[in-house]
Amino acid sequence: MNAVWLAVGLPAAAAQHWGPFTEGPALGGSKQAADDDELFCAYREFNRQYFAGKLPEANVVVQWDAAVELGGNVALTWITNYEGEGEKIAISISTRMQGCEPCASMTLLHEMVHVKLRKCDGDQHGKAFQREMRRLVRLKAFDRRW
Ligand SMILES: [Zn+2]
Repeated sequence: MNAVWLAVGLPAAAAQHWGPFTEGPALGGSKQAADDDELFCAYREFNRQYFAGKLPEANVVVQWDAAVELGGNVALTWITNYEGEGEKIAISISTRMQGCEPCASMTLLHEMVHVKLRKCDGDQHGKAFQREMRRLVRLKAFDRRW
């Protein structure tokens, strides 16, 4: 699964990457038409609302992707920084989240924290991550979603 992403770039020797960040399995889920544009709009909106617009956007792709489930995940953020290509960020969210706004939004916010902390070493869900999630709670990002 990850190999799909790896296959895109230049030789691994020239590459630097911080991802992927993977999430555990989701419970339930519903299917309803929604598209990638909608997801990217949500990313942009959350970026302004909760990250002071500081997360990258021009080099970011956000997409529904049933394939993340193949790796036992509900979402995946893959970040590459290949020489000559620059940083690229791809957030994939399971299509099972479609039709469940709270599920999709909370998952997207979770992935956005990974984007913010992408250059930090260590436990991907460690102290810095928890601190960011609590910051989002204080900003009411999860109100009416959890
Ligand atoms: Zn995560």
